[in-house]
Amino acid sequence: MKKTILLTFDVEDWFQVENFKNNIPYSTWDARELRVEKNTIELLDLLESTSGSIKATFFVLGWIAERCPDLVREIHKRGHEVASHGFAHHLCYKQTSEELGHDLVKSKKLLEDIIGAEVAGYRAPSFSINDSAIKIIRNVGFLYDSSYNSYEGHGRYGSLTLSDTAKPDHPIYALSPDFFEIPVSNLRFGGKIIPWGGGGYFRLLPTMLHQAGVRQVLKEKNCYTFYMHPWEIDPGQPKVREAASFFKFRHYVNIRKAKDKFGNFLAANAEHSFLSCREFIRDYQSHDYADEIV
Ligand SMILES: [Zn+2]
Repeated sequence: MKKTILLTFDVEDWFQVENFKNNIPYSTWDARELRVEKNTIELLDLLESTSGSIKATFFVLGWIAERCPDLVREIHKRGHEVASHGFAHHLCYKQTSEELGHDLVKSKKLLEDIIGAEVAGYRAPSFSINDSAIKIIRNVGFLYDSSYNSYEGHGRYGSLTLSDTAKPDHPIYALSPDFFEIPVSNLRFGGKIIPWGGGGYFRLLPTMLHQAGVRQVLKEKNCYTFYMHPWEIDPGQPKVREAASFFKFRHYVNIRKAKDKFGNFLAANAEHSFLSCREFIRDYQSHDYADEIV
């Protein structure tokens, strides 16, 4: 069986991250320098310049889509999947059911109007999923969610009760015949879960070590789900000097090297297939993967 890599990008800008929420309130976002367009195009160009056909999933924040509809159309035009990162980047478990439902519907409809096609997937800000949020995501009409991160040491990530019979770290869970969870990949080592799916952890890990972990995940699961943000390849972004050191470390660590590192990661895995989440679900539905994805 061909091994699959799911590249996922949360399309948001440097001032919208949870790490800087105390320093940059939502009400001031409009006054900030928008850099997401340029950074996302750089990522799109990088995917295109890598040999082989790479399809990825872009979870676009509604606030960004409203201001950069051409960017959303460009992602779609280049054959990648446009999915939703919600509208206002509020953590799921900090919203009421009504607020979350409203945020989801607004972002889904906005993206669908821009690309003229259905939007099937959702990723929660900071993986802030829980059991009640997943029901709302499903009821809004999404085909899948990709907000579960099994790493428990982060503090902000949510959690999800997946079926008792499911084996840990499954790359896809059919929560019902028409609704799926695609968790971000982590590495299990010595009974512990180590964050291996991307973001700051990807920037922190030495390239060879990260690749060894990716090989391990692919060997065990046949699928590796990776995430990144466009601001992670932007060393020129304005510095939020007043933020707490810990948050600054998380946000800025190895940002200068991240683009090259990501390029190396793509090159090192060129033999595998890079699919969008939706394509992966289609494949999953059309074959019996039971014995192949363990
Ligand atoms: Zn986000």
